[in-house]
Formats: sequence, structure tokens, C-alpha cells
Amino acid sequence: GAFWQITDIHYDSNFSRQPSPNDLCHSYDGYRGPTDPGIPHPMFGDYNCDSPWKLVESAMDAMKRLHPNPDFILWTGDNVPHEPDSDFDLFKVFSSMKTVTERLVRTFEGIPIYPSLGNHDVWPSDQLPVGKKAADFYGGIYEHASWKTMLDGFHLDTFFKGGYYSVDTIFGLRIINVNSVLWYKSNKVSTFPDPADQLIWLEEELQEIRRKGKKVILAGHIPPGSLARVDNMKWFTAKFNSKFNDLLVANSDVLAATIFGHEHTDSFRITRDNNGHPGTPMFLAPAVTPWKSTVPGIGSNNPAIRLYTYNRTSGSILDYQQYFLNLSAANRQEKDQWHTEYIATKDFGVKTLAASDLSELVDKFAQENSSEFDRYYQYNSVSNDVQTKCVDTCKHRHICAIKEVDYDLYDLCMSGPYFSSSSMKVFRRLVSFCLNSLCLPLSLFVLMIFLYVVFMRDDQIPIMMKNNNAQQREKLLIA
Ligand SMILES: [Zn+2]
Ligand SMILES: [Zn+2]
Repeated sequence: GAFWQITDIHYDSNFSRQPSPNDLCHSYDGYRGPTDPGIPHPMFGDYNCDSPWKLVESAMDAMKRLHPNPDFILWTGDNVPHEPDSDFDLFKVFSSMKTVTERLVRTFEGIPIYPSLGNHDVWPSDQLPVGKKAADFYGGIYEHASWKTMLDGFHLDTFFKGGYYSVDTIFGLRIINVNSVLWYKSNKVSTFPDPADQLIWLEEELQEIRRKGKKVILAGHIPPGSLARVDNMKWFTAKFNSKFNDLLVANSDVLAATIFGHEHTDSFRITRDNNGHPGTPMFLAPAVTPWKSTVPGIGSNNPAIRLYTYNRTSGSILDYQQYFLNLSAANRQEKDQWHTEYIATKDFGVKTLAASDLSELVDKFAQENSSEFDRYYQYNSVSNDVQTKCVDTCKHRHICAIKEVDYDLYDLCMSGPYFSSSSMKVFRRLVSFCLNSLCLPLSLFVLMIFLYVVFMRDDQIPIMMKNNNAQQREKLLIA
């Protein structure tokens, strides 16, 4: 079978084609002018801006044209533009989501759509609620953003409690949709230790799936781990990252794949157990919006949609086809031609997209002058940033982010020298041995002794030595 993923639409209803250079789109950093001031404001959007309606429709129509009858659609969140909270309110969030929802539902009448909430699908942004305010907000999404047209017939008590749910496809594969925005660092209203009891629910859900001998594809908006394009950009609060990652690792036998959006760039991750064995593949699809991030180094991307082929019962992702719109060409020609950017197995030269094959691919990435890595890097910006050659630190950063969803191992990977894959394996084993045995407390103990001797010997030794004999004192002074 096949299914679509569409993500990070960020529809900007204020996008303007007026020819004033200061009046194009609204953003966190005020009005943004066109990327190329020499031409009239572009028809399908600007690399500096969120999606105009024309682009939203173009993406959905392209999906319909390219593969009109998918088994289902994963819609992984973020529909509201990047605007300051002062320009927005909850009513605007609901109405903007309603517009996008109705268009997608109309385009794919009768096809199941499994939506996730993004960090922008709320006001103030990032603050997806738990507790008392939850029922009002998620009920509002259901009612006023027209999500009832997609969620009708699902078990929704968890949705009204915390924006997450689980459902079976007609082929019996389970789809779990997590609300990972509850674990997001910028969410100040989610509560410890388990917002909306989502983690415990997820654990029980996965156990039940195992008992029934079923498999699951897990989707959500924000992925665990770190962004690959800049240093140290971790999404979840550390505790939530490690709990969620532990769940993914412990249940890799039932998890066929995990699928997220949010990063706007095209990448993937591999979860691993303590011995470094690959578990579940994690696919991070690029955005529809071309919007240039305010974080230096992330940049903008061409608009993208993705079609997966998968096994209907095991859920294994067999392949995916990445489609994109070359935005500058489309604007120049005033014609929206969506093309295949790449086909995963063919362009990366892998047999399947199983975690073990992807892991071997990353080993190839790590080699010098890897053409596989160069291709990956081109696709990372949806073939927008084709000039930059990503080597040294840049490449190191991508490889660490892909391989290490765990924060500590990511930090270790980043702080270390550039490892070739085999030395990394030995190093990992050493570290995991260290973490699992007494070697960490032991080395801390040795370090403390060392500091004690270095900093406390001259002035403090007479006091410390009160109860010791001269012989011991002499020994210490020698050390
Ligand atoms: Zn987004
Ligand atoms: Zn997001």
C-alpha cells in the first residue's frame, strides 16, 4: 500500500502580493521583504515567508494528482504561520486550521486522515495544554477547527485529555498519534512527570499491541533527539527525551516506523539499544512552507510532500518518494510543477529502509567524500541549498544527530573527534560499559582525590592532618 505525509503547511492568510518591498509576509522578526526584490511578489510563496493559499492548494492538488487513492494520510502538524503571539489569538488559530482541514478533507474525500497537533497549532504558540484547560482546547480543535470530520469514530478520550490517540487502519495496522508538543522545552504549561499521562498510556498501548501480535506506525509533530543543521538544538526536556527514547528502544519489535515533521528539513534518525544495535527507523519529512528560519544556519527549503510505500500488515516502510516544488522556477514560470526529488532506496543505494540498512548507510556517510552523504545533504534543504558543501563540523553534526537520539550520547558524539564508524562502535561499547558498571563512580572518586590533593595541600593540610601522623602527611605531600 501507499500513504502520504504532509507536514508544516504554516498557511499565512496575510501573505501579500502587493508590490511594496516591506509588505510581503508577517513574521517573528517583523515584515519580511521578498528574497528577490527585482520581481513582483511571487505567486507560490517566497523563501522568506510562510505558505500563501496558492501554495497550500498546489501541494494538496499535487498529492491528489500524483497518487489519488492512498490508504491514508499522515498530517503531522503546524498549520498556523510563524507570527508573534501579539498578532494572533485562539480564534484565528481555529479558523486558520479549519480552512486547511476542510481543503484537505475535500481533496481526499473518503480517505482516512490521521492528524497530529504541532507547536504552532495553539495560542500562545507552543503552549498545548494539559489539565483543566485541556478539554476546552482539544474540544475546540475538534469542533471549531473541523477535526471532527477526520476523527469521527475514533476513541477520543485521550484526545480530549491531551491531544493524542490511537486507531487501526482497515488492514489492522495500528496508528498511534502522540502529542509530542507536551514534551517540548518551550511548552511551559505541561506538567511533570507525565503530562496528560501520555507516556504511561503509550507504554500500555504498545504492550497491548504486542499481546495482539500487531504492529504500529507512530506519528507526531516534534521528533525526539536533536536538529542536524545547528549545534545543540534539542527539542524535548531532557527527562522526556530519555523516557520517550527508552520506550521506542524497548518496543522496537512492534514499532515498524516512527514519522515526524517540525524540523522543516529532510532527515532521518535511528533508535538504538544500549549495545548500539539499530532498532526502529525514524523518518523526518520536510515542510510545505519554504519559510526561512530565524535561527542562523537552518535556512529555507523548497516545498515538499512525501509518498511512502509500506507493508499493510507489518507496517514496514518499503520505500518513499520525495516530491518537491522548485519554488523559484515555479514563481518564474507562474506554473507549479511538482517533481520527484528522489526515491529513497534508489538514490541512497539501500535495499530497504529498515533501521539496520539505514545504519549501514550512515556508516557510508561517515566515509570521506561520500557521495551518499552529499546527496543526503542536498535533500536536507529539499534541494534549495545546493551550493554549500557540508564537511568537517557540518557533517559531524548531521551524523551525530542521525545516530544519537539519546542526548548524552549525542553530546559525547559531538564533543569527540570525528569518528570513523568502527572506532565509534568501540567507543560506544566503552561508554555503555562505563555507564552500566562502576567505572563512572570510580573515575569520579579518583577525580575527587586528585582535586583534593591539588587544591587543599598547602594551607589546609595542617588542619586536615590533625588526626593523622606525620608519615601519612609526608606521603600526601609527595603525591
Ligand atoms: Zn513547522
Ligand atoms: Zn513545529
